[in-house]
Formats: sequence, C-alpha cells, structure tokens
Amino acid sequence: MAKIQTPQPVRGTQDIFGEDQERFSHVVETFERVRRLFGFKGVEMPVFEPTAVFARSLGETTDVVSKEMYSFEDRGGDSLTLRPEFTAGICRAFLSNGWQQHVPLKLSAHGPLFRYERPQKGRYRQFHQLDAEIIGAGEAAADVELLCFADQLLKELGIDDGVTLQLNTLGDAESRDAWRDALVEHFQAHRTELSEDSQDRLERNPLRILDSKERQDRPIADAAPDIDAYLSTEAKEFFAQVTEGIDACGVAWTRNSRLVRGLDYYRHTAFEFVTDRLGAQGTVLAGGRYDGLMESLGGPHTPAVGWAAGIERLGMLLDEPEKCGPDAIFVPLGDGCEAAAMKLMGELRRSGISCEMAYKGNMKKRMQKANAAGASYVVIIGENELANSVAAVKNLVTGDQREIVLSGLVEALTA
Ligand code: ATP
Ligand code: MG
Repeated sequence: MAKIQTPQPVRGTQDIFGEDQERFSHVVETFERVRRLFGFKGVEMPVFEPTAVFARSLGETTDVVSKEMYSFEDRGGDSLTLRPEFTAGICRAFLSNGWQQHVPLKLSAHGPLFRYERPQKGRYRQFHQLDAEIIGAGEAAADVELLCFADQLLKELGIDDGVTLQLNTLGDAESRDAWRDALVEHFQAHRTELSEDSQDRLERNPLRILDSKERQDRPIADAAPDIDAYLSTEAKEFFAQVTEGIDACGVAWTRNSRLVRGLDYYRHTAFEFVTDRLGAQGTVLAGGRYDGLMESLGGPHTPAVGWAAGIERLGMLLDEPEKCGPDAIFVPLGDGCEAAAMKLMGELRRSGISCEMAYKGNMKKRMQKANAAGASYVVIIGENELANSVAAVKNLVTGDQREIVLSGLVEALTA
C-alpha cells in the first residue's frame, strides 16, 4: 500500500499550544475583564461575510481588499470573504439588526481573522485580534475612553513598558482633502523616485504612501507636508479635546504626524501603540475614528471610533507565564479506589479546587507525574485508606504527608 502523506498545516496558520496558548488565554481573559470595567458589551460575530461588506467599507484600493482577502464562491454562488478585520462586520451587524436604538453602543469582540500576507514572526494568515468599538458617538470623549481602555489593558498585561502611544489626527473631510492635494503635489514632484506600489498609490490614495514600508519611499514620505497646516478650526479643536482628555487620564502619548491608518474610512483620531521589541511587526494595537464607514455600507451617518490589537503580538510581549499546576493530583491504588477518587474529585472541583488523576503506571511513575505537573498536593487513596474513609495527602511543597479524613479534604487542601 502506498504510504499516506501526513497533512501539512495551511501556510501562515498556527497550532497554539503550551506556553503560547497560556499567553493567548491570558491576553483574552485580561481583555474580557478590562472591557467590563469600561462597560463594553461583548458581541459574537460571523467569521465570514458577503465580500461586499469588506470591499465597500475598506475601499477597493486598500492592501487588504486588493491583495489580502480570502474570498470564495460558496455552493450557492455567493461571493463570501473570511473576515480580515472586525470593524466592517460589526457595522454590518449594527445596520442589519437596527442597533441604532442602543447608541452610543460600546462593543468588544475577539477571534480569528484571515489575511493572505507573507507569513513571518508576528504576521500570520490566520491571526487573532481583540477589538473595541464605540458606535454612534461623534464626541471626543469616546476617543478618550477608548484610548484609556487600551492604555489600561496594556498596563494590566504588564507590557506598557517600551510601548508608545503614537497619536495623529487626519482631520475632518475638508482638512483631509486639502492635505491630500498637498501630498499629491509633493509626491508628483518625486514620482520617479517612488516604488512601483507607491506610484500606484499616488493615483488611488496618496495618503497611504506615508504608510509605505518600502525603504526607497521613506525619505520622500518623511519629507511630505504635515496635516497641521491644513486642519480646519473644528478639526484642531477636536484633536485638542482628545489630547486634553487623555492627558487628564495620565495616558502617555507622542505625536506622530506621519501616522495614517491603512484603511480608507478613518477621520480625525488615528493611533498606534508601538513597541520596539517585535522588529518590523511593532504595532500591537491600532485604531481611530471612522465616521465615514457606515455610509459606505448604505447606512445613515453614524460616527464611530475603535481599535484592534493582535493577540499573538501582545502574547509575545508578556513575561514568561507562571507555571500553574492543578491544586491536587489523585493517585488511586487498588480495587474500587478509582471510582472513589472520581467521586471525591467531583466534590473538590465543585468547591473550586482543581484536580486531576494519575491513572497510569506504577506508584513511582504517578508521583513523578504529580511533581512534573506542578501540583500542590498528591492525594493517595489505597484500599486501606478507603476502608477507613481517609486519604494520604502529601504536600509537594513541604514534603509533609498526613492522613486526612475524606470529609475534611476540601478544608485540608484549601488551608
Ligand atoms: P500592519 O501595518 O502590521 O500590517 P495593519 O495596519 O494591517 O498592520 P490592523 O489592520 O490595524 O493592522 O490590525 C491591528 C493589529 O492587528 C495590528 O496592529 C497587529 O497587532 C495585528 N495584526 C494585523 N495583521 C496581522 C497579521 N497578519 N498577523 C498577526 N497580527 C496582525
Ligand atoms: Mg497589514
């Protein structure tokens, strides 16, 4: 018989296990806790949407839509796309469910996203994000609240050290248009020095040249005019309210007037939390205000602001997670002992004590397993113990071993 080839994973996907998985869970659990402190409701979203949801809202010329989407026709002939981001799907949900009645609506989500990118450390084809949005709020207070949320999350994860909040404003539509014209003029003058991609961007969306990662574009992008000269009074005032708000909350930031977000729908506030510890993949959390998005999906004007953070990138920045084994490992030895141990473990778990059973191998092997698992106690139940309704409980930290009556186990293990 021909040898069966073992299947390979899809390029750019990960099987997250062991310490990496613990980091992942810790990020998600911390996010879930902090989002409640800020009053964000959770939302569970479909992993795929009609392709138009992303194509229309992100803009046909963005990298995500033009190069990175996993789009396919389903069996019914509809064009679907695996979500490359949360925001567009959440806006679609807002419109399809008539959530207007809930504004300002503070939502949070997390889960997998899909982009056809060149895989490398910190960049995958299936990756995971945390996401926070405030929909139906045009006030700077919403931007401030989201930035405080992001700041507190990073602090509670213990990774704020070496992470900088870079903040910019893209102004209102009027400011943005005036700045755009000035950028076109500047880039036109250096057209031939630009990378091919950026020459293309010049036609489609010149703002994105500022965002270019191509080395040859950098000096030209860095010499481009700032938005500041083009900001309307209203746009300036809005930005001042945001910065005053976060200053009052003690959120540290620096101005990066070169910062534009990769997607078309951003207005006013744009920001990235950046670290120097992850090489080129240094943006851990990014977002901004997207007042124009809902209309691009055919909805009413609905100002909104949000951010997303890469779970893997946050996980990589965490300190080494503490090894935490179960509270107790049970070692049943003899007839009827396994069933008795199962029953006792059920009682302990209902009291919030974590336990596992070592049911394989001789006594020595089982004790080794208990030690390797990092358990606090080993509970040995042999036939003699069972007959006397006791267990031999060994404290693995002190090495001390005692006989405990079964009815007193919970107390003994929580002492
Ligand atoms: P980049 O400039 O790194 O491509 P982006 O602008 O495409 O980022 P967003 O769409 O704003 O990123 O996503 C927000 C966050 O999600 C990023 O800051 C990053 O932490 C994470 N992220 C984005 N793409 C990937 C990916 N392919 N793999 C892992 N994490 C990612
Ligand atoms: Mg990208």
